Amino acid sequence: MAYTICEPCIGTKDTACVDVCPVDCIHPRADEEEFEAAEKLYIHPDECIDCGACVPACPVEAIFANDEVPEEWANYIDIDAAYYADE
Ligand code: SF4
Ligand code: SF4
Repeated sequence: MAYTICEPCIGTKDTACVDVCPVDCIHPRADEEEFEAAEKLYIHPDECIDCGACVPACPVEAIFANDEVPEEWANYIDIDAAYYADE
């Protein structure tokens, strides 16, 4: 499975989740050149180890396990995966 970052991250993007992720699978980090242009952050679906540490760290409750993503944000599962599709 994996976790996904949904709509509430847009406009917040404070990188609190990046700081707690043990496998550095949330990008772009603030020190990466893509950061300024990114509207939100994205979780790498293959590198995420499903630890859940990022969920309580997010101040706007944007992060969900993929099987718990609210229906209105289900498209964000594909949005996060697509961000890494060309790797
Ligand atoms: S669930 Fe764990 S591994 Fe996956 S993005 Fe969140 S902190 Fe990182
Ligand atoms: S902690 Fe939440 S709002 Fe902040 S960057 Fe991560 S997903 Fe976005």
